[in-house]
Amino acid sequence: MRLILLGPPGCGKGTQSQRLTEKYGIPQLSTGDMLRAAVKAGTSVGVKAGDLMARGELVSDDVVVAIVADRIEQPDAKKGFILDGFPRTVPQAEALDRMLKEKGLRLHAAIELKVDEGILHQRIAKRVADMLASGKTIRADDNPEALEKRVHAYRLQTAPLVSYYKNHGLLRSTDGMASIDEVSAAIDRILGKAGQAEAPARRAARTRKAIGKAAKAPKAKARKGRAAARKRPAKAVARRAPAGRRKAAKTRRKPINKAGRRG
Ligand code: ADP
Repeated sequence: MRLILLGPPGCGKGTQSQRLTEKYGIPQLSTGDMLRAAVKAGTSVGVKAGDLMARGELVSDDVVVAIVADRIEQPDAKKGFILDGFPRTVPQAEALDRMLKEKGLRLHAAIELKVDEGILHQRIAKRVADMLASGKTIRADDNPEALEKRVHAYRLQTAPLVSYYKNHGLLRSTDGMASIDEVSAAIDRILGKAGQAEAPARRAARTRKAIGKAAKAPKAKARKGRAAARKRPAKAVARRAPAGRRKAAKTRRKPINKAGRRG
């Protein structure tokens, strides 16, 4: 299964991705985590991305696309993945489409977590408080100014992906304001339906195949029968009418007369 989670910062993409990873055994590919690791390791990507990220701005498409292209080649991503934080712009979505097409793969759904912007600040503030309480270092961009920019970048550059995936028939939206468990349950329902939507298509293909096979045999028989009949005299043909037709003739009902009776 290949999924995208869409939504503004703090909408719960990370939390839901982790749950989906446990449930389906497919990795969460978070571009934010990958970029933070690059910044920490001081790689060339990290050096390019660090300042932009701390300010709450987006890293350039080509950098992020290259990271994702590498990551989905890894063995653990072969049977599927959950993209968290990617794509974030229309060009990134188009690049993803190209990558998957080259591999003969397809996306199953883009799940949008819809939230009121007002709650995002509260959620990020809670995340900061939780991190500090557990002695962890807080993210460089988890401050009010950077958050404002991240939300702005979402509105301007990422929100258009909602229409993009809607047009591709892949968008599934759910209420991200509900509790974590409720959102998980809603995603399960969405994915259940996505699975079922495939099943009837496969069933229909199987049925068509079966009908094709069944139809071949009687046709061949009928052809042989007609060829033989052409060689026989007319009377014999009448006597040898196919069993189905003989039965139909016997049971054919007489027309209804003016009195409303048959006969
Ligand atoms: P958020 O909680 O804001 O969704 P993420 O952890 O996904 O945060 O990303 C943090 C930062 O990393 C972003 O603000 C941006 O600078 C950078 N980033 C992550 N993913 C992308 C991407 N797909 N394109 C561009 N920049 C990205």
